[in-house]
Amino acid sequence: QIEQCFIYQVFGGKLRSQIHCTACNYKSNKYDPILDLNLEIFRTRSLERALNMFTSKEVLDGSNKYNCPKCKNMVKAVKQMLLCEAPNILAIQLKRFAFGKYGMKIENMVTFPARLDMSKYICGGKKQGPIMYSLYGILVHSGHSIHSGHYYCFVKCPSGAWVCCDDGYVHQVSEKKVLEQKAYMLFYSKESSAGSGAARMEIQTLGSSLAVKEGKKSIHSSSNGGGRVASLRADDFSAGGHHRPGSSSSSSLSPPGSPRSPPGSPGSPRALART
Ligand SMILES: [Zn+2]
Repeated sequence: QIEQCFIYQVFGGKLRSQIHCTACNYKSNKYDPILDLNLEIFRTRSLERALNMFTSKEVLDGSNKYNCPKCKNMVKAVKQMLLCEAPNILAIQLKRFAFGKYGMKIENMVTFPARLDMSKYICGGKKQGPIMYSLYGILVHSGHSIHSGHYYCFVKCPSGAWVCCDDGYVHQVSEKKVLEQKAYMLFYSKESSAGSGAARMEIQTLGSSLAVKEGKKSIHSSSNGGGRVASLRADDFSAGGHHRPGSSSSSSLSPPGSPRSPPGSPGSPRALART
């Protein structure tokens, strides 16, 4: 059962595809579990417009008439897709890659907000009032085609500061900088009525229980511990502040010539060198 899977609990939602017969009013609903939304951006300059297009009503008429199972006629019908269950984490893929001979990339700038109201795109959402999501991560692809390039991401720390993670090169950036990116994927977390971030807390709890399980596994499977590992804790960044490399003089961000312990030693540096 997909609903029980951890990934589904985090990213999962349901998409409802409805066909409404205009002759007898019959509504046929089909529900599909999804882990992300894939949006066309070919003629789009904003995320909201892409969502409007995705959920717009399509008239089935002429040679495309609907065979209604209730009134047993070929009828004019209206088809619409809407999210039915809003996911905790909403992952949105902007379809930048056109498949075909050359795997061309669509380089449109598509604007996206830091806070997104999804109520228009969720079944019964308009009655519920705003269903707010906060942007907390984006993935960017640099390169001109599907066949090559490089991925990097921007992530919002619990402190509210944004960091750019580009391989081992991690640095703080402004939210303005994040919103200027030609994003390939967007990650929004649902704000709960009990206060924003509650849904994310729940996910962090789920995530850490998973990490504990994974950690137990890796103790048994890994024999070469003590390697030089790039690690940077989210709380190393503060909102509006600069990077705090921590109190350790062995940080690899310390000035050249400052004392540092050899790689791999206990409490060894956070490797930040670009790889
Ligand atoms: Zn009908």
